[in-house]
Amino acid sequence: MIKIGLDGALIGGVTGISSGVPATGTAEDARYNHLPARRRREPTGDSAVTSLIIFDCDGVLVDSEPISIRCTAAALTVAGYPIDPAGVLERFLGISTAAMVATVEQETGRSMPPGFVGNLRHTILTAFERELRPMDGIADLLDRLDRPACVASSSVPERIRLSLRVAGLLERLEPDIFSATMVRRGKPAPDLFLLAAERMGVPPSSCIVIEDSAAGVRAGRAAGMTVFGFVGGSHLSPAVARPGLLAEGAHRVFDRMADLNEYLHAAAT
Ligand SMILES: [Mg+2]
Repeated sequence: MIKIGLDGALIGGVTGISSGVPATGTAEDARYNHLPARRRREPTGDSAVTSLIIFDCDGVLVDSEPISIRCTAAALTVAGYPIDPAGVLERFLGISTAAMVATVEQETGRSMPPGFVGNLRHTILTAFERELRPMDGIADLLDRLDRPACVASSSVPERIRLSLRVAGLLERLEPDIFSATMVRRGKPAPDLFLLAAERMGVPPSSCIVIEDSAAGVRAGRAAGMTVFGFVGGSHLSPAVARPGLLAEGAHRVFDRMADLNEYLHAAAT
């Protein structure tokens, strides 16, 4: 069982669930209580286990997928691989641009035009600067989170940080940001989630992954972690996406960030 040392004053109003852990006011507590709630490391020992929330970025922290899907469909079509946004959503959601290009090149038997990846990245980042918004309720959720959190994304570090900065979330998550560029195999392989857990000092079995894509859910399960599927992004229809993520092995699927704290506490009991 994961025992939560949460701040009841912060959390109770949202979930109505009490931690049952009394505030003790010891010297040990004083070491932690000056930190924002999510960055506190609970004292470890027989009576307390630290857990970690690993957030995917696109489609979970930021509502970026409609923008990147639109830009990607246009770029692939111009490059001679006709595809519409629905096709990009179905085939390439949650995987890196490099993996997408490899798939397209294998299918067509020819290389993408020189500069394709760099040009697409530039187009998407420019659109993000103009249009990107945080996922509804995520800033409040992060401020109330009672345990450590980090980001593990298929995007390159530059794009992750720009996304989080534009969405107003960067300072809540720095420096705990992990990119698929840091591992040999991206999602759906478990490598990135395992790296994040190792760097954060938490065993995989004590991690909860929040993911919106099939590839991400598969990666989290392959890493031996609990996986919550999130289908509240504006690129997804919850009714359509929910069965797909459950079929990939998600332990729970939800569509409102405001509900996540309640589900985290339920998972801990
Ligand atoms: Mg995603």
